[in-house]
Amino acid sequence: MKLDASARKARDLAAPYRVSDGAAFRLKDVDPDDTAGLGNSQKPLAKELLAAGVAALSDLQDRLYAQDTWAVLLIIQAMDAAGKDGVIKHVMSGINPQGCQVYSFKTPSSEELDHDYLWRCQKCLPERGRIGIFNRSYYEEVLVVRVHPEFLARQRLPQALVSGQLWKDRYEDIRHFERYLGRNGIAVRKFFLHVSPEEQRQRFLERLENPEKNWKFSAADAQEREHWPAYMEAYEDMIRHTATDVAPWYVVPADHKWFTRLVVAGAVIDTLCSLDLKFPIVPPERTAELAAARTALLNE
Ligand code: ATP
Ligand code: MG
Repeated sequence: MKLDASARKARDLAAPYRVSDGAAFRLKDVDPDDTAGLGNSQKPLAKELLAAGVAALSDLQDRLYAQDTWAVLLIIQAMDAAGKDGVIKHVMSGINPQGCQVYSFKTPSSEELDHDYLWRCQKCLPERGRIGIFNRSYYEEVLVVRVHPEFLARQRLPQALVSGQLWKDRYEDIRHFERYLGRNGIAVRKFFLHVSPEEQRQRFLERLENPEKNWKFSAADAQEREHWPAYMEAYEDMIRHTATDVAPWYVVPADHKWFTRLVVAGAVIDTLCSLDLKFPIVPPERTAELAAARTALLNE
C-alpha cells in the first residue's frame, strides 16, 4: 500500500527507537523527554501526523483482515502512568473493533498460577487477520516477578529449577516462543513506554489533584516508585536479551504523550507495511460466478 507523506513521516519517526539486536542496548541512551526535535510548538503538526497515521492504519488493517494470513501481536509494557491506556485508545482509534483484540494481564489468579506462565497469554494470541494487543504480558515474569521475589514463590516451581540462571532461562524461552510465533505468521512487536520518574510524579499528582482523575490513583502504584532503579535494571536486562529481528522492542520516549502515540503509530504502520498485505484476488473460476450473480441482480 502506498502511504501518503504524513503517514510516511510517522513511520520514519519510529525507526530510531527500534531495538532489534539487544547486545549493545543501554537504557540511558534513550531520553524519556525526547521528541525527535519536534518542540511543543509543533504539537499541531504531530496531531496531523497522528491522524494521517491512524487513517493509514485503518486501510492497512482492512488488508490484514481480508488477506487473513498474518496476525500482529503488539505488547505494551511500562511503569504506571506512562500512558499505556492512552496509546491503545488513540493509536487504535481508527481500527475496526472486529479485527482487534485487547487483553490486560494483571496479578495471576490461582488457576493461572497452577499453569506455566505462558499459558494465560497463549490463550489470548490473535487469530489470523487480527491485531492483538497485550496490555502487560508474559514480560511481567522478568519484571515485577524479578523485583518482587514473593511473586516467584507463589508460582511453586520445583526448587531445583530456581537457580541463578532463572532469568536467563526465561529470556531464552521467550525468545524461542516469539520466534515460534513469527514462524507461524504472528508478527510480534514490543513497546516499552519509557517515562521518567519526575514525569510519573507529576502524573500521580495530577491524579490526586484533579477529581476526575482521582479514580486512576492507586497507593500501590506510588509504592512501586520506590523500586524504580530495580525496575529500570530489569527493563534494561530484559530488552538486551529479548530484542530480536523477528520480535523487536521499541523503546519509546514517554514524557510527552503526543510523541509517544505518534511513535507507536509509526511503528505499527511500519510493521503492517513490512507484511506486504494485499486484498485477495478472486480466482478466475469465481469471476464467472460473480458475473452471473451481477447479471441476475440486474435482470430482477
Ligand atoms: P491501570 O493502572 O492503567 O489500570 P495496569 O496495567 O497498571 O493498568 P493494574 O490493575 O493497576 O493495571 O495492575 C496490574 C498489576 O498486575 C501490575 O502491578 C502488574 O505488575 C501486575 N502483574 C501483571 N502480571 C503479573 C505477574 N505475572 N505476576 C505478578 N504481577 C503481575
Ligand atoms: Mg496500575
